[in-house]
Amino acid sequence: MGMTDAKRTNSAKTEELDVIIVGAGFAGLYLLDRLRGLGMAVQVFEAGEGPGGVWYWNCYPGARVDSPGPMYQFSRDDLWRDWKFSELYPSWQEIREYFHYVDKKLGLSRDIRFGRRVNEAEFDPVSNRWTVRSSDGSVTNARYFVLCTGLGSKPYIPELPGLSDFAGEHHHTALWPQQGLDLAGKRVGVIGTGASGVQVAQEAAAVATHLTVFQRTPNLALPMRQRKLDDDTIRRMKEDYPRAYQKRRTTFGGFDYEPIEKSASEVSEDERRATFERIWEIGGLAPWVGSFNDLLANEQSNRAAYDFWRDKTRVRIKDPALAEMLAPTEPIHPYGTKRPSLEQNFFDIFNRPNVSLVDLRKTPIERVTRGGIKTAAGEHDLDVLVLATGFDAVTGGLTSIDIRGTGGRTLKEKWAKGVQAHLGMAAAGFPNLLFVYGPQSPNAFANGPTCAELQGDWIVQLLNHLRQRNFTRVEATVPAEEAWRAQVIEIASGTLFPRADSWYVGANVPGKPREMLSFAGGLSTYMAKCNESAERGYEGFTIG
Ligand SMILES: Cc1cc2nc3c(=O)[nH]c(=O)nc-3n(C[C@H](O)[C@H](O)[C@H](O)COP(=O)(O)OP(=O)(O)OC[C@H]3O[C@@H](n4cnc5c(N)ncnc54)[C@H](O)[C@@H]3O)c2cc1C
Repeated sequence: MGMTDAKRTNSAKTEELDVIIVGAGFAGLYLLDRLRGLGMAVQVFEAGEGPGGVWYWNCYPGARVDSPGPMYQFSRDDLWRDWKFSELYPSWQEIREYFHYVDKKLGLSRDIRFGRRVNEAEFDPVSNRWTVRSSDGSVTNARYFVLCTGLGSKPYIPELPGLSDFAGEHHHTALWPQQGLDLAGKRVGVIGTGASGVQVAQEAAAVATHLTVFQRTPNLALPMRQRKLDDDTIRRMKEDYPRAYQKRRTTFGGFDYEPIEKSASEVSEDERRATFERIWEIGGLAPWVGSFNDLLANEQSNRAAYDFWRDKTRVRIKDPALAEMLAPTEPIHPYGTKRPSLEQNFFDIFNRPNVSLVDLRKTPIERVTRGGIKTAAGEHDLDVLVLATGFDAVTGGLTSIDIRGTGGRTLKEKWAKGVQAHLGMAAAGFPNLLFVYGPQSPNAFANGPTCAELQGDWIVQLLNHLRQRNFTRVEATVPAEEAWRAQVIEIASGTLFPRADSWYVGANVPGKPREMLSFAGGLSTYMAKCNESAERGYEGFTIG
């Protein structure tokens, strides 16, 4: 059989599309709707059995968002007008309902293949198309391959000797059983005190016979100030939505507020304290991204913010030894350089007789046993073990797909020593491949839905530009991605972020290159740079 015949046979079996999108979270759904609206043949492939991205997987007790509900949705008025979250910080159940609502309203599911995990993708430089192979045996071919795999789609479980010996149930928070798991009356262990650990611990403390929290690093968690929203409140809030959605497109973090236009170092002690107090009362992420503009760059200002947080937190914890473990006198890392979580009663649960805290820095885990966890100090008996151990964040979702570009090299190989990604959306050697919420974009520093819309719009504009000119190929250049990487590193070096062993810099996964994975210059600056490239005929890309 000649080459042409082979191709013909192959294409008879292979579905041909304009665009394959991977992931049915905010980013994938936004792009599906927009690209379909342009008349393109688009499909979304999603490993989960329903829409929502991280909100499909993260159904552990207490899982909820840290962005306020009004900001954690699409900005389209035909969507927000008919939707209401019942709490300021909605739970995973309500966010899932929201996704089903959006799906129904926009008729998205007909172009989504659920339960289909993309395993491999290969670029053909002759046809300028991608061939994509998935877990269900399907082979699909498309001009463009757009990865909307998010920053938290690859759970990370550390080496825990003996884990398979554990007689009870153990689950990673992002692989929580869809049918749920009742923690009532159980002896529960939670490893990890990041966002998920804080949330699940709060729930477990209320129902478990005993809760043991295993902490490596204190979480500088901020008060959530959760509240129920009645119809009248929602109606009043909605009057402000058009302004807020307009505003969020222009801010540092994709929320409807900015840092204060003052540094903590330039104001008097009294003003600093009064400002910290005011912002503390607002709560949420405001004490992080809505405070003085030098908190994440100036060591003294940062220390002032830390001391304020520490004093506010310690008064809630009765036992001085526990207070020192949870809110140490001296900071373990600068304030805000690890993602602060939002807590409702996290620090109060340690006053309860059924809750204990283990400091893994002092007494590390030796092994998991049949009956629990053995640390250097003794054994903790457990019925359920919750692994709130986070993610191979930002890059993991992309590098776990075997993606082969022009040189036969995989994306994982290309990034083995560090990410190269022009504008955080495209990589040289991988034509017609684009990614949203990916490395070297503002991802972790920006509200998810805002990023999905803004990066999504940019990609839509690019693909439309190519189509209108009958181009079939777009690829980032090597000099452009090198310059972008240098810029990402330079911006980060002006901040305190590199000082913490966080997932922001890949430090939570052994062997992962230590590098800033996010563009720390703010979403508005980032989009200005993306738009500048577009205005200059997509500078930094070769198009043909
Ligand atoms: C517990 C948790 C809480 C969060 N809270 C907030 C918050 O308060 N505010 C905020 O702004 N952000 C938050 N985030 C970040 C969150 O990732 C974004 O808000 C948002 O979900 C990003 O949407 P996305 O569409 O880019 O990706 P995701 O929502 O991550 O969706 C990616 C999808 O891709 C799918 N996928 C990945 N790989 C494959 C594959 N190979 N084949 C098929 N499908 C695949 C996954 O199954 C997943 O459904 C949170 C994340 C987590 C995990």
